[in-house]
Formats: sequence, C-alpha cells, structure tokens
Amino acid sequence: MENGSKKVVLIGTGFVGMSYAYAALNQNACDMLVLIDKDKKKAEGEAMDLNHGLAFAQSHMKIWSGDYDECSNADIVAICAGVSQKPGESRISLLRRNSEILADIVGNVSSAGFKGVFLIASNPVDILARMVSELSGLPSERIIGTGTTLDTARLRYLLGDYFNVDPRNVHAYVIGEHGNSEFVPWSQAMIATKTVLSICDDNRSKYSYESIVKIEDDVRCAAQKIIEAKNATYYGIGMAMVRITKAILGDENSILTVSAMMTGEYGQNNVFVGSPCIVGRNGIKSKIRLPLNDYELKTFNESCMFLDDVFKEIGLANSTTKK
Ligand code: NAD
Repeated sequence: MENGSKKVVLIGTGFVGMSYAYAALNQNACDMLVLIDKDKKKAEGEAMDLNHGLAFAQSHMKIWSGDYDECSNADIVAICAGVSQKPGESRISLLRRNSEILADIVGNVSSAGFKGVFLIASNPVDILARMVSELSGLPSERIIGTGTTLDTARLRYLLGDYFNVDPRNVHAYVIGEHGNSEFVPWSQAMIATKTVLSICDDNRSKYSYESIVKIEDDVRCAAQKIIEAKNATYYGIGMAMVRITKAILGDENSILTVSAMMTGEYGQNNVFVGSPCIVGRNGIKSKIRLPLNDYELKTFNESCMFLDDVFKEIGLANSTTKK
C-alpha cells in the first residue's frame, strides 16, 4: 500500500472480472484498479467504459488498462482469467484448460516482483489456488481462492427465506470443495444462538430436516442452474470477490469461507479448500476450527482427498517449479 493507496490488478476482463470491477467501483473498494487481459483491446475498452461511469459513482478510483509490470506494487492481484464452464461441464474438467492459462499468468506476475495477496476466482478454484501457491512460492497465507464464499452467501439467503429471518442473522457455512463435494456442517449452523437443527426439532409442524437438506442441494446445484439459464454466473461471484477485497484492504479480520491452504486443520495438509478463515491485510490471518461431528469430519476429509487426488493426478505438484 504505497502512500496508503490501495491498488488492485485484475487479470481477466471477462464476465466475472468485469462484474468484480463494476462492483468494486460502486463500492469504492480500492483507489487504483488496473485491468489486464490477453485481449488488450478489450481491457482498454472496459477501462474506458468504467471511467465514463465514474462521474456517477461515490468513488475517485483511478482505472486504466496496463501490463504485468503494474503488479510490482499491487496489494492484490485478482485472477478471473480462463475459460468458463460449459453447460453440464464439471468444474474439475475445466482444470486442464485453465491450468495452462494460470501458469502463464503467475509466471508474469512473479517476474514483476509481486508481494501482495493473490485472489483467485478462476475454476476449479481450489485446485488453481493450490497451483498459484506452488508456482508463486509466496507464503501460503497470501493465496486466497474464492472457495465457498458465494455458496455460503447462497445458503444464508435460502435459510433466511425458509425461516423468515434476515440472512445476516444466519450463521451457517458451506465448506469443502467449491463443487460437488461441498456440504453444510449442520451441527454448526445457527440462527442467532440456536442451531438450525434444534429449531427444526422444536417446530416440527413448520420446519423439517428434509427441507434444509433440499436447501443444501439447491446451493450445490445453483451454479449449474444459472449456467443452464444464462450460460455463465458472474454478478454473485464478482460481489463475493469485492467482499474479500474489502476484508483484505481494510484489514477487517472478517470470517469468510475462502479457499486456503490447510496446515494441519482437521488432519489435512497442503490442500486448498473452503473453510471459515479470518481474512485481513496479509491474507489468511488464521482459520476457525469448527468442532465438526464424526460424520461432518469424514465428509470434509473426503472432499479434501478428492481435491488432493485430482491435483496429484494431473501432476501439477511435480511438474511445477517453485519460484
Ligand atoms: P470469460 O470467458 O468471460 O472471461 C475470461 C477472460 O480471461 C477473457 O476476457 C479472456 O480473454 C481472458 N484470458 C484468457 N486467457 C488469458 C491469459 N492468458 N491472460 C490474460 N487473460 C486471459 O469467462 P468468465 O465467465 O469471466 O469466467 C472466468 C473464470 O471464472 C472461469 O474459470 C470460470 O469458471 C470462473 N468462475 C468462478 C466462479 C467461482 O465461484 N469461483 C464463478 C463463476 C465463474
């Protein structure tokens, strides 16, 4: 943060990247925003378009399109580059296409001398965050994947709707892979200080366990449903990225279910996976260890094992050299 200014470099000015940029502008999330894309003309056009909206925003943000040397003094490099999910395509099947793009980008960012926090949205986000960690050689706390941040927001919205309470008073998390093996540890899901399970138990004529499990399924399938309807998802993830950006730049110590490297939590190591983390100026400050029951611990570990297997299967761990 030179002269106290907050600088974000965004790589990938597609649907997700520009939803993030637009939300960042409207929420005054940083002081400088640099747009990079392999399609330079697109990045230039997007910068012009955003700048023309500045007169109507509560923001004095400086926005321009640039090159990788801009990363040298950036606080955050946000990666939204890649190819998006096709209808019916699993996030994991995107990996091979997106890992090559990521390797190229991280090489360029590292060469510029970047020392800030990487924020990764490109899918499959847990695998790519781990890859960025391996390739960049930065301390693991400086690598943040969007993880299950958006899934958690979707869960809170749907539970708030079901129980007719403000989602901000719903304290529940989606954890694990951002994908099919993600799940809700219901023993840890609260409305105010009451568990969701006890609320269902105490009001059986009104609420049921089956209904909340259906909500969990709806959260898991939400991205696929949106993709079937409009080919891509972007507004929600753009806003989730701004939330994480503000937590970093504002040193907020906010608890967000980002994808972070496990360092012994729940018996897991090295794998990047979504779990509640305290996010501040230097990235991941610490992780909240949820007191999971045996079933939840097993489910979480299976999700981690799946991510670890995929990462090893494609040989990234061996084929990359640390810088
Ligand atoms: P998009 O196709 O609209 O945009 C991708 C952009 O990346 C394009 O502008 C392209 O030119 C650029 N790009 C490609 N290769 C590049 C390179 N080597 N260097 C610089 N720029 C490059 O795609 P999108 O819909 O914006 O999705 C982007 C990524 O975000 C995808 O991987 C998608 O799966 C992911 N995504 C993640 C979440 C989440 O919850 N984490 C949600 C939605 C989408």
